[in-house]
Amino acid sequence: MTAPRDVLHIIHEALLSRTRDFLYERGLHGCEGMALWIGEPDGEDSDRVRLTRLLVPEQICTKTEFGVAVDMTERAHLTLLDHVAPHERLYVRVHSHPGRAYHSERDDENLVLTHHGALSVVVPDFARRPLQLEDCAIYRLHRGRGWLPLAPNELARIFEVIP
Ligand SMILES: [Zn+2]
Repeated sequence: MTAPRDVLHIIHEALLSRTRDFLYERGLHGCEGMALWIGEPDGEDSDRVRLTRLLVPEQICTKTEFGVAVDMTERAHLTLLDHVAPHERLYVRVHSHPGRAYHSERDDENLVLTHHGALSVVVPDFARRPLQLEDCAIYRLHRGRGWLPLAPNELARIFEVIP
């Protein structure tokens, strides 16, 4: 399978800040938070996507001696697509970590997004600072190879933040 096409995901600062507010609030409870960015193709151009809104699925935060984790409830998995209109798609999974941002083994196995080119953004430090994509670890799903980190110089080809 070849590498996914570079699709530019256009995101408003307001959506970043709404996402940060949610993740930060979860962090105040010592919990990771998980959300999805919904979007739609930008007109006829299949290489551009507009991210339009945040979806926060019902989720369970687990705290053990090994750390914290977040999972969608079974009901949230079963009903996920009920929240997505026919012209919309789920493009990006976003979740927070208490400390460093990276894809854990558990994150690699996560099956919420499975399409070639799906994106996963891991936000460090329970989103205590304003959400900047440069601070996050960002992974892209290469079908057959798994989630591979985006190199810093790829970021501008994959995300454009607009005011
Ligand atoms: Zn994680």
